[in-house]
Amino acid sequence: MVILKDLPGLPRFRCKIPIWPRTLNLDNASLQPVWSAAEQLNAAIFVHPWDMLGRERMPKYWLPWLVGMPAETSLAICSMIFGGVFERFPKLRVAFAHGGGAFPFTVGRVEHAFHVRPDLVATDNDTNPRKYLARGDENGDLTPARFYVDSLVHDADALKMLLKLFGAQRVAFGSDYPFPLGEAHPGELIESMQELSAKEKAQILSETTREFLGLS
Ligand SMILES: [Zn+2]
Repeated sequence: MVILKDLPGLPRFRCKIPIWPRTLNLDNASLQPVWSAAEQLNAAIFVHPWDMLGRERMPKYWLPWLVGMPAETSLAICSMIFGGVFERFPKLRVAFAHGGGAFPFTVGRVEHAFHVRPDLVATDNDTNPRKYLARGDENGDLTPARFYVDSLVHDADALKMLLKLFGAQRVAFGSDYPFPLGEAHPGELIESMQELSAKEKAQILSETTREFLGLS
């Protein structure tokens, strides 16, 4: 495994952690030194799906990209939440690709499961998964989510949901450039949304990423 402290350019270097074999999830104890080193070095970790689960059942229709990737990303987020990674490493900065995959739309189901079957769900971390998302106080001030997602969801309503769940300070501009599931004109959806203020657009298009990478 690459030793993070030996990588050049930290904390600006984006680290790729190959997960193998495919049964290894991000709560695995063998990854604890990686999270620890990333936290100590103030490194930013970007999690992008690959080697998607269930590929043997998805030979057609580009389904590993359309179904497997969102599921894989939700698996990564749920593994880190339920494995208590964010509890053990409170300063660890992590971002998940493609708006967090299936996680944002299923967080209600995830939270419900946490309440009704803690014997299955909360075995390693008794923190409600909802607490890792943005929350407002009585003054209307928003505390952003514990982790980042990118904005690449191709749908205005989905992006609005992301902003509500995570806060603009945790939604970073995603392009997937130069791959075909990226936007033809990166940032086009964000720019087109009249309901977003100029300040919010600037936050998503630039500031959140700069904060995530430790550049601001
Ligand atoms: Zn991607």
